[in-house]
Amino acid sequence: MQRLLQYIGGEFVEPASGQWIDDIEPASGDVIAAIARGNADDVDRAVTAASASTWSSTTVHERADWLDAIADRIEAGLEDLARMESRDTGKPISLARGVDIPRAVSNFRFFAGLVRHHQDPSAMMADAINYTVRHPVGNVALITPWNLPIYLLSWKVAPALAMGNCVIAKPSELTPLTADALARLIHELGLPAGTFNLLHGYGAEVGAPLTAHEGIGAISFTGGTATGRQVAAAAEFRKLSLELGGKNATVVFDDCDLDQAIDGTLRAAFANQGQICLCGSRLLVQRGIYEQFRERFVAATKAMKVGDPAAADTRIGALISDAHREKVEGYLELARQEGGTILCGGERPDRAGFFLTPAVVDDLSINARCATEEIFGPVCTLHPFDSDEQAIAMANATRYGLSASVWTRDLGRAHRVSRRLECGMVWVNTWLHRDLRVPFGGIKDSGVGREGGKWSLEFFSEAQNICVRVDEES
Ligand code: NAD
Repeated sequence: MQRLLQYIGGEFVEPASGQWIDDIEPASGDVIAAIARGNADDVDRAVTAASASTWSSTTVHERADWLDAIADRIEAGLEDLARMESRDTGKPISLARGVDIPRAVSNFRFFAGLVRHHQDPSAMMADAINYTVRHPVGNVALITPWNLPIYLLSWKVAPALAMGNCVIAKPSELTPLTADALARLIHELGLPAGTFNLLHGYGAEVGAPLTAHEGIGAISFTGGTATGRQVAAAAEFRKLSLELGGKNATVVFDDCDLDQAIDGTLRAAFANQGQICLCGSRLLVQRGIYEQFRERFVAATKAMKVGDPAAADTRIGALISDAHREKVEGYLELARQEGGTILCGGERPDRAGFFLTPAVVDDLSINARCATEEIFGPVCTLHPFDSDEQAIAMANATRYGLSASVWTRDLGRAHRVSRRLECGMVWVNTWLHRDLRVPFGGIKDSGVGREGGKWSLEFFSEAQNICVRVDEES
């Protein structure tokens, strides 16, 4: 069986604990690899190795060339990586092939290009000139979840390396395969030893000592809000970026293009089995079209093919684990207790693996727990509304504030409503439509800070101003 080792100081090494964790394939329940069970000793070793790396003395152009080389390698291995990601996560192969791996390529290529052209403004005074020097923060801890493994890891690794930092990456213990593949290709390319380190293991055993380590200068964490609170407490004065959970509203007005809205809101609700922080799991639909929308949405939900992630036409693969499926089922039970009607889904297909058919819930109060807490699975709730004001109030009635989508043909309404939604990102007549230059992140319990484009470059560096006096001619 494949053993996933720690990657520390340019070498693949056994974990200090000598212990291993099972990597389980969601679509079968089979153990497919043994994962190093890291601990605080591994963290110490990785931080020491990172501190000894020569990476920070490379030039911006050298680093950008390395990032391009990494992108080329990922692209060359796209098909293998897509199969690996689909197997490790249970996501449909079409998604891994069309989104996850291409995004990893784009992340490295994008930040290579951005850093080559990045320039901070200088400020001229009558008697002095100010300019900005960007220094690496030092060693950075990058901690990622299981839903978009290499997509999110590369989103952090690329700008961190671009700005001259050394990386200690901690992927989810549930989905370590593509992180291991990334370490292997970085190793083959020959980046200076200690530049990129990879630690596998449980959050409490590797993530916690990593976030508290005094040799770490910045922490970029993506994961659940409860974990984010622990990371924030451990971070003290280190730079911190938190990308956390969401309970995102989809607001459908009666003047929308209904065909487009059904397609888009279905994708928003159920992409990746509803396991994307940006998923639109609370559908607010204007009363005039509520019944028509509900009927078509439920029919479209039932028509999505659930099954083997490796099949090209599968729309809904397996959930990440049995425990997670039970949690999602628990929310459906709660929805019934809260007065909800399950219009479809929530059933286990007759096959091995952690599958659950996509569920649509009606008749719940907008304040019900199922309508306000993050379920992170193939469950969405439907709610009618009458006016713009009511839609805005309902959309904002959650402690999360990550994203929203608005479906309308009225341009004025689109702008008016969007800016009053309490969240970091709003899509109008589209969903998860990304340009890597724009800010990404949430407010309220969905996180702290922004990543993306120049925001990532700023997070992964320390700006230093130098002011030089210019003497007047004598
Ligand atoms: P999680 O919080 O359980 O784990 C995330 C990572 O943190 C894992 O690598 C885990 O091992 C590690 N970890 C756990 N405890 C830790 C600790 N005490 N200190 C440091 N690290 C620790 O999240 P998950 O279940 O893997 O992922 C799902 C969550 O991630 C959802 O809430 C989802 O909304 C969120 N998410 C957010 C975004 C975003 O960009 N906002 C993107 C994807 C996922």
